[in-house]
Amino acid sequence: MTTLTEYELRQILLIINKIHSFEKEKTNLFELICDLSGILNALEFKIKPYTDDFRKEINLLELIHDSIEDGSIFRWIGNYKEDMLNSISKLKAMTATILDEYLGLSDSNISESAILLESNWLMCQRCNDAWESDSLKAMVICPKCDRALHNPRWLNMKRKKLGSNKI
Ligand SMILES: [Zn+2]
Repeated sequence: MTTLTEYELRQILLIINKIHSFEKEKTNLFELICDLSGILNALEFKIKPYTDDFRKEINLLELIHDSIEDGSIFRWIGNYKEDMLNSISKLKAMTATILDEYLGLSDSNISESAILLESNWLMCQRCNDAWESDSLKAMVICPKCDRALHNPRWLNMKRKKLGSNKI
């Protein structure tokens, strides 16, 4: 169901990236909140079934951040660190779902396919980077240039299916 433009796909990958940086402690909570709010504003319409849930989790992170800043966090009901991690994993799960839905369907706006190299390696036609992948989804993402490409394995499976139907 989810079709994403190249721009929207980049924003989705950016969310994954920003959360990853935070988990690796390369950015702090405030930076994460600013980044995610900015991306959400840009994507608001497109991720509509998820927008309210995204907003809710970002608001909760903001509340935790503000409470830490003004010293009122000791009045937090429950464990704020757990609540924070919980919010972040919900954001991650939602982003993964959006990406997964997108990759599951062939995107007719994209003309390039990845090139199947030996065993489980794919190569990007746009930047020539090769990466290890055994994905059977319709679309794959080049980890170097973040662009979506058709998955040659999926195309092969589709051709085989079409062929066997004719017999
Ligand atoms: Zn590439």
